[in-house]
Amino acid sequence: MPKPHLGLNTTCAHVGEIKDKQFKGAVSPIYLSSSYEFLDVDVKRYPRYFNTPNQEYLSKKIAALEHTEAAMIFGSGMAAISHMFFAFLQKGDHLVVQNTLYGGTVNFIKEEFPKYGIEYTFTNGHTLKDFEAVIQKNTRLIHIESPSNPLLTITDIKAIAKLGKSKNILTSIDNTFASPVNQNPIDLGIDMVMHSATKYFGGHSDICAGAIASSKEHIERIWNVSKNLGGSLSDMTVWMLERSMKTLGLRVKAQTKNAMKLAKWLNKHPKISRVYYPGLKSHPEYKLAKSQMKGFGAMLSFELIDDLDSQQFQNELKLIKSSMSLAGIESTVLSPHLTSHALLSPEERNKVGISNQLIRFSVGIEEVKDLKRDINQAIAALK
Ligand SMILES: *Cc1c(COP(=O)(O)O)cnc(C)c1O
Repeated sequence: MPKPHLGLNTTCAHVGEIKDKQFKGAVSPIYLSSSYEFLDVDVKRYPRYFNTPNQEYLSKKIAALEHTEAAMIFGSGMAAISHMFFAFLQKGDHLVVQNTLYGGTVNFIKEEFPKYGIEYTFTNGHTLKDFEAVIQKNTRLIHIESPSNPLLTITDIKAIAKLGKSKNILTSIDNTFASPVNQNPIDLGIDMVMHSATKYFGGHSDICAGAIASSKEHIERIWNVSKNLGGSLSDMTVWMLERSMKTLGLRVKAQTKNAMKLAKWLNKHPKISRVYYPGLKSHPEYKLAKSQMKGFGAMLSFELIDDLDSQQFQNELKLIKSSMSLAGIESTVLSPHLTSHALLSPEERNKVGISNQLIRFSVGIEEVKDLKRDINQAIAALK
């Protein structure tokens, strides 16, 4: 019988603590050694082996949160994703990857895969049929993102997992936007879950890290590549990440609650023409989101009406910051057409639904009334 999962906040607070047996301190000590004894030890520890005490123990928390046997922590989200791809794809293999995806992942695939003879196809959409249509004989991995950046599309995770299993193809998901607080893809049949821990795991815009959670077997295979590539996280930062993750459940639940309220409010706002949020009944995949997510997340996007300048709008905001990154406790906004999708032509952007009026909104923990007031005063200042 598998052990029952501890509740969310208990897991965040306690799983993976290192007991301070020497001084009985309340929190995990930091072990900064980069050199450990190798004689008569069970584990040969070394930072680049991803197995210092702090790395090993924080991995237990992440595995518990994603309901997996094992997990690994990396120096960034891109390190996590690149190591995962390189562990399961080699020359002549083929990756099927969702068309709407984090920009860095798209760049990595396009720029690096050709050098190693790895083939890939981006889907034309995110329905099951779109994925089925591009599977080849040599497809080894299907990678999805749901909710996706920046239009919050929802992919049917169960259907993709089933498709993979039926064809003996592994499946992976970027679960950064939902976080394990709002979505556990392993329970829906996905093989591997990755995170940019720079985002909700860190949560305070002061850590760059990544993580993968999966079975022991898959993590071991990734480890075999990672020990060669390097890219482990320093133990100082691992410790900071552990501290941050104690409040992951509290933070993300509060942010999710705020996002729901703001999405509803923005949806009725006369100066906002469209809101993208999977928790709105008007979202085309609302029912699917409801069936596979525990909460709808704290990321949303909206479009200002045509005669309002979106850049000026962001300059006028006083409380909400414009920021490249996301998922901190502070609310931030970003223009996808000037950042993640700046390299596309206006026509290409139009095709994927990214207008100059689009604003991505990472909702923080502030009081909703203060966020509403800030948005309203910025709009008022534009006239
Ligand atoms: C930020 C992000 C990444 C990349 O993570 P880094 O920590 O910046 O390397 C990957 N996926 C998503 C969805 C992200 O938001």
